[in-house]
Amino acid sequence: MRALFFLVLLVSINAFAQSNLHVDFIQADADLSLSVSEKSISGDVIYQVEILQRTDTVYLDAIDMNIKPCEDEQANYSVSSSNKKIFFTGDFQKGKTYSFCINYEATPQQAMYFVPTTSKKIGQVWTQGQGKYTSHWFPSLDDQNQKMIFNLAIEAPSDYYVLSNGVLQNKAESNERIKWTYTMKKPMSSYLLALALGDFTSQEIESSSGIPIQLFLDKKYETNMEPTYRHTKEIFDFLEEEIGVAYPWEDFKQVAVKDFLYAGMENTGLTIFSEQFVTDSVGFKDLNYLNVNAHELAHQWFGNMVTATKSEHHWLHEGFATYYALLAEREILGEEYFYFQLYQWAEALKAESDKGKGEALLKSNASSLTYYQKGAWALHILREKVGPSNFKEAVKNYLEKYAYKNVETEDFLIEVEEVSKMDLIDFRLDWLRQVAFPADQALKSLRKSVFIPPLLELISLRETDLLTKKDHLSKFMTYPVDDFHASEAVSQLQNLDSPEAIRLYMKAFASKSWRVRQSIAKTLNTIPNKLLESYEGLLEDESYLTKENALLHLWGNVPSKRSVYLEKIKGDFGFYDKELRMLWLMLTLATQDFEPENTTSYFRELSGYTKKTYPVEVRENAFNYLYQLDTFTPDNYKDLISSCFHYKWAYAKFSRALLEELLKDRTHELNISELKNELLTKEKEYLSNLMKD
Ligand SMILES: [Zn+2]
Repeated sequence: MRALFFLVLLVSINAFAQSNLHVDFIQADADLSLSVSEKSISGDVIYQVEILQRTDTVYLDAIDMNIKPCEDEQANYSVSSSNKKIFFTGDFQKGKTYSFCINYEATPQQAMYFVPTTSKKIGQVWTQGQGKYTSHWFPSLDDQNQKMIFNLAIEAPSDYYVLSNGVLQNKAESNERIKWTYTMKKPMSSYLLALALGDFTSQEIESSSGIPIQLFLDKKYETNMEPTYRHTKEIFDFLEEEIGVAYPWEDFKQVAVKDFLYAGMENTGLTIFSEQFVTDSVGFKDLNYLNVNAHELAHQWFGNMVTATKSEHHWLHEGFATYYALLAEREILGEEYFYFQLYQWAEALKAESDKGKGEALLKSNASSLTYYQKGAWALHILREKVGPSNFKEAVKNYLEKYAYKNVETEDFLIEVEEVSKMDLIDFRLDWLRQVAFPADQALKSLRKSVFIPPLLELISLRETDLLTKKDHLSKFMTYPVDDFHASEAVSQLQNLDSPEAIRLYMKAFASKSWRVRQSIAKTLNTIPNKLLESYEGLLEDESYLTKENALLHLWGNVPSKRSVYLEKIKGDFGFYDKELRMLWLMLTLATQDFEPENTTSYFRELSGYTKKTYPVEVRENAFNYLYQLDTFTPDNYKDLISSCFHYKWAYAKFSRALLEELLKDRTHELNISELKNELLTKEKEYLSNLMKD
């Protein structure tokens, strides 16, 4: 009878519970506990809900959770659940506010990740709501039109630093566990709810407007704090000023985590970003956090404060974040950078459009090129059309009018029309509804800059022979050079060794621009004798990318001096992904007369980088170099097989492709089959399937 009753109950609930339209969630107060060993989270949550129209059912999204009602004898509702939802049933009156309390336990299969690291014994735990659904770890509403205030208290082992949205109110320690209490004052959509735990160190700064900004890194990266977060205060101050609306939350925190799913995520008041952007001052030049830092921060207004109602308006998040990040970068990196980016985006958009793959900005589930870069271009054109001050005023009005609410594209455009007194019908057609990219308008806009016309002129010479264009190229390599123009000129020398080419290369070497010299390192891979001495100088440049390219090309071009080159780069590790170190290890192992006594330890080092405690960026590099050396240890094979199941899809795909490649070789195949008994069941099954083919 019990089962039957349950069935009837579910049927009756489903009829009513398809939407929460009659309900406004106000607040969620949670008292949670995290078990790192069990990879689970549990606790009590109290929801405050206002009833807009009489109803008998209110629901929450909750994926595969154990749900119990709280022990509350006064409850005027009952609680039931499926593997996707929690239902509160009762007679809920219009205009009244109700409190619902549940106890839950979840072992999330996605949206919350437990990640091993090389630091102490503890790893990291972090969440990703957007695209992965917060309802896997916290009973909430996946619909981004429902906003509420989240106040989370989270208890965790005391060696973890615990971060969440909002202001840290309290830390209470007992039995080697600490409870961290965070509170918020303004509502947000649940995809912006976040947790991040790890062995973090921090630095606190403050914006000019007085907002506390806390910057976090894993303790082992303590010395990278300044270069990693360089310009953070400038970006923050610039965005507050440029947007014209105060930062909409009480405080701002940022944390880098290992094996993050994306470049960064703009959780409210808490940007979580990939550790691949952790850098020292040398690496900063080639790969830094600047753009992602500004992009995620811009979302605090565009996306978090005003949130699109649905996917077709998603450009209101990504187009704005991309464009305002570019405006912030213009402040720091200059006009040339600004126009070069716009130019490159226009090229990419035009290429897709010419292939017939253009998308309207208002398409739902469009590509990121559409939402991000086409969105940014639409804003750039609109800003030029109505003028920067009208644009700024309209953005301000739009943000203030819809603060903490949901928006559609028209809400923004109406504000722009009101301020500018302009009719934007053509803009709507060309930039929002048209599938093709309006390349003519983009080009016309770009041509107004000082930077673009000479660049286009240079690019038009790509197919011209060197004798005809040599004077022209030479002009762009004359000190002081424009980095972007001169780099393009260098790339047009195309490894030529004629006297004209040599003369131009010499001029480029002497340009004093590290970026131009890097362009030589990247594009000149057959080194003429006359340029050897200058080329060797690239090994001294303060750029890991330049060093990587120079080392590889010198090692290949001049076998007699391999030991000299390897000695020069010894001890350099390069970026977070250890690319330079691993290239050096591989070349060292392939150079018989260089430190033969250390061959074993160098191989052990390279082979050790496939362990799961290393970031996927490092592991992927290590697998690539081991493949080139054609040497895998049993541990490397096992690491590769387990990597085929990694939650980072691109890394899993890489691992699967490499494993399939290895299995084509009889020796690798035999080595791998010998390991079968040491594998997990799912790994064994996967391997058996592969070997059948
Ligand atoms: Zn974004």
